[in-house]
Amino acid sequence: MALSYESTRGGEKGVTSSQAILKGLAKDGGLFMPTEIPALDLPIRELAGLSYQETAYRIMRLFLTDFTEEELKNCIAKAYDEKFDTEEIAPLTKAEGAYFLELYHGNTIAFKDMALSILPHLMTTAAKKNHVDHQIVILTATSGDTGKAALAGFADVPGTKIIVFYPKGGVSRVQELQMRTQKGDNTSVVAIHGNFDDAQTGVKKLLADKELEQEMGEAGFQFSSANSINIGRLVPQIVYYVYAYAKLLENGEIAEGEEINVTVPTGNFGNILAAYFAKRMGLPIKTLICASNENKVLYDFFATGTYDRNREFVLTNSPSMDILISSNLERLIYLSTGCDAKATGELMKELSSQGSYHVTEQMRAFMSDFVGGFATEEEDEAEIRRIFEDTGYLVDTHTGVAAAVYHQYQEKTGDETKTVIASTASPFKFSHSVMEAIKGKDAVEGKDEFEIVDALSSLAAVPVPKAVEEIRTAPIRHNLECDVDGMKDMVKGILKI
Ligand SMILES: *Cc1c(COP(=O)(O)O)cnc(C)c1O
Repeated sequence: MALSYESTRGGEKGVTSSQAILKGLAKDGGLFMPTEIPALDLPIRELAGLSYQETAYRIMRLFLTDFTEEELKNCIAKAYDEKFDTEEIAPLTKAEGAYFLELYHGNTIAFKDMALSILPHLMTTAAKKNHVDHQIVILTATSGDTGKAALAGFADVPGTKIIVFYPKGGVSRVQELQMRTQKGDNTSVVAIHGNFDDAQTGVKKLLADKELEQEMGEAGFQFSSANSINIGRLVPQIVYYVYAYAKLLENGEIAEGEEINVTVPTGNFGNILAAYFAKRMGLPIKTLICASNENKVLYDFFATGTYDRNREFVLTNSPSMDILISSNLERLIYLSTGCDAKATGELMKELSSQGSYHVTEQMRAFMSDFVGGFATEEEDEAEIRRIFEDTGYLVDTHTGVAAAVYHQYQEKTGDETKTVIASTASPFKFSHSVMEAIKGKDAVEGKDEFEIVDALSSLAAVPVPKAVEEIRTAPIRHNLECDVDGMKDMVKGILKI
């Protein structure tokens, strides 16, 4: 059955999946949603034993209905190949009574690779299908990990250019080096004088700028987005939750139909929303535990029904979660209104004019599968240390937040449901913070990032990932910087229009 997509704000309807991927954001600033969430079309036990690639095809075909079998399988094969350092693609590790779903075995050692390895292939396939002859310009705002993963995915892909904006001083040293050493003639990286929300808002503005769109068109370009608002990122992220469940079943860790909980370290609400989609497709997930760092806008939202971004933006050691405007929440809001685009649009208008909105009791009841929690920097560090000391297993600062929130939840509720924790980055991407958490300030003070990387590697007896080795000596290729209100001129300069 062909699924069609529509904007959460009502401005676009009847859009095919390939068109929605090309557009990224809808014209009215809304996000594309399928008109229904398809159900799994085979019993989960039949998924047990399937490879990651086969599972991906089984799930993605239900959403991307205007791609042919050959097109989709081709995209999947190109995405999930030896770029990943394990054949399993997303392995599960049992530690401390939970299952860590390691989503960081790709090119750039963060979970963004799970979707951004495939997005460029989906996008170029979509362009061909829709007879697009413009060059596609990917505009992306990053809190650190999306940028590198998108750059790696789109580098030298014919017919595309990519421009990434990151908050200067708001990403880890490894994240910054990864982006600024990126190769590829079609890649540009710009540090902005602002935080992630400034970057994301700026990019959304550019994507919705009609005048710019016209000028771009005349010069043979059209924009798209690699941010997690793109449905082409959300759909591939559903796959690993289904895969994880099937693996637990295959390994005899759970019985068929047994419910699990999922804990996700959350920023833009993309990863956890994918888990929710998996639940709606029929995967037995009970509770979705949404873990925030000190930017706990989502925790407050689930606790009170008020979303309020009017607060101080805190820079933490889990920078990929330093976000006050969680864009993908709009999709849950939309579902919770019974797909009422008008009501959704009004709430989003309030968010942009007043910085806050309040949802109805009915909407809150709809969202009761979600529980929010947050961990402070100290709690995160203590959790990383505890897990390492108890089990020898290293987790990064984002996964540490999730694990800490999971334990708080468990203590508070006594819920013993087996739990998958999304493990979103390699600890080596945040070596400084991870080392400090385990061994204290003295172990990092005055040390160069790579000294710490090596020390962490010997401490945990885990080899340094290739992605970190590569940037040790790579030359810096990108030096652009601008103010938030200079983003438009920067883009025009890069495209020479
Ligand atoms: C992006 C990211 C997150 C947050 O994911 P969202 O989909 O934005 O909620 C968490 N951890 C890491 C390491 C990330 O890169």
